Amino acid sequence: MVQKKNAAGALDLLKELKNVPMTLELLQSTKIGISVNTVRKQSTDEEVASLAKSLVKCWKKLVCGPSKTQMKPKKEPATSSQSSPEPGQERSSSIKANQGKEETNASHSLIKSFPRAPSTSDWVRIKCREMLAAALRTGDDYIAIGADVEELAAQIEEAVYQELRNRDIKYKNRVRSRIANLKDAKNPNLRKNVLYGNIPPDCFARMTAEEMASDELKEMRKNLTREAIRKYQLAQTGGSQSDLFQCGKCKKKNCTYTQLQTLSGDEPMTTYVFCNDCGHRWKFF
Ligand SMILES: [Zn+2]
Repeated sequence: MVQKKNAAGALDLLKELKNVPMTLELLQSTKIGISVNTVRKQSTDEEVASLAKSLVKCWKKLVCGPSKTQMKPKKEPATSSQSSPEPGQERSSSIKANQGKEETNASHSLIKSFPRAPSTSDWVRIKCREMLAAALRTGDDYIAIGADVEELAAQIEEAVYQELRNRDIKYKNRVRSRIANLKDAKNPNLRKNVLYGNIPPDCFARMTAEEMASDELKEMRKNLTREAIRKYQLAQTGGSQSDLFQCGKCKKKNCTYTQLQTLSGDEPMTTYVFCNDCGHRWKFF
């Protein structure tokens, strides 16, 4: 049929094939699909080619099951939807990416939702939920964001309660520290991240004071720690006495110096110089 380039004969054969009730078994035993596909590719007659094409298309469905174009729409919502709860790992990585970043888009679809917290009849817990909700309302950000503060507060309280399993001093302190940080005027990003769900309620329930601290406070703490380490190391080593350095204040050359690897390992050492006469300290690079 192909070799003879007999268009009329091929067309008749294909029409006949179209009326054959095709099954997967028949396709596999006769390999007719391969033959017809060859006709489709090699035939110069348009009618033959299009009929062969439609036959191959029909038979492919027998082999592959439902066509792929029908499968696609089912998959898409799962990957593009932001409101569906994500697996734990994905969630924690998205927290890291979003933390500290100021969210300005007030679209509701940005809010991540989490499983609803069961209600409680315990008045202490109810009171804590109310106070958390009030803290979440600080600055009125929740209106623009469109967050359900009551539900969010309940989820935070629930996570604290589930972890500590009672409502003793530890529970109260935990709730209190959440409230203080949510209300902190210097730390609006924390509250926004909680409202958006960038920090999931169960994560927020466990965060330490350091983790909740504002960027400003984090920077201050980091510097304090670095300074403390430097002073400690100076005291420990005592440094080396040298006349290589001249004091910028008293112009004497009675100095002690210490070299420290302050930043990462591949960066050069920093030399700290201390004047034994006037106590002046400086860094020498
Ligand atoms: Zn000096």
